[in-house]
Amino acid sequence: MTTLIHHAHELPQSIPQPLVLVPTMGGLHAGHIALVRRARALGKSVVVSIFVNPTQFAPDEDFETYPRDLKNDCAQLEGLADWVYAPPVAEIYPETQSVWIELPPASRELCGASRPHFFRGVAVVVTKLFNLLRPQVAVFGQKDYQQAWLLRHLVRQLNMNINIDIHPIVREDDGLAMSSRNAYLSAAERKHAPRLYETLSHTADAIRRGESNVTALCAQAKQKLSDCGMAVDYFTLRNANTLAPIENADENKTAPQTRILLAAAQLGKTRLIDNVFV
Ligand code: AMP
Repeated sequence: MTTLIHHAHELPQSIPQPLVLVPTMGGLHAGHIALVRRARALGKSVVVSIFVNPTQFAPDEDFETYPRDLKNDCAQLEGLADWVYAPPVAEIYPETQSVWIELPPASRELCGASRPHFFRGVAVVVTKLFNLLRPQVAVFGQKDYQQAWLLRHLVRQLNMNINIDIHPIVREDDGLAMSSRNAYLSAAERKHAPRLYETLSHTADAIRRGESNVTALCAQAKQKLSDCGMAVDYFTLRNANTLAPIENADENKTAPQTRILLAAAQLGKTRLIDNVFV
């Protein structure tokens, strides 16, 4: 049975441990559900939080229009999660927030370069959810790779005794990474959107085949994407452990899952992000 709660104090005092948390902003899709199934496999109790976090949106972003459908979200979670925690804003932000967490320089690159408010909001809301719900494990998606990387960094640096589990990206049949924001895509944009993953995959293949001029490969990829109407924010090969740029593809060549191609692009009013390990 799944119980909807709006306040953390409604969680029973003694919960079968480990408790696994899946933080979301709702608008649930099969990607979120895969994370919840993973949580179920990892723990004895599962709580899914649904909270559209105002502090991670800039004033010109889509906070107001972000897809919200708590009833539908709860129906999808029925029997999978033990609790759905959907707090009002006042529970998370009882007063004007004045304490923030200073994140490392990697938070100001990639998504952090074009969305400077974003990771600061994510770090504070995730810390609050951890404090309110006290999970031992939290599951995040690889789709938001930089976010998952920063959260691992956060729990390590702040000595939080929480294991961050990262679930692989769940995709539509045509390769598009599932996202609540895909609902914004027009029919024509939806046709072009899978190009992002396709281009990431082709570029990764080229690097695996031994092409070492990463700068040229990424420039070609950006050109391909802008030809189909995307405004590319970044398309870059990074060290998956440090997020440092990799200029020469021969770097870290032999170690598995240590190089990752990360990309973000705007298609109409929709921001798409995606990545593939090389
Ligand atoms: P969101 O509701 O978009 O904030 O996402 C909540 C969690 O689900 C985050 O950890 C995301 O990385 C993860 N997530 C979103 N989309 C996917 C996907 N297609 N595959 C795997 N995880 C995802």
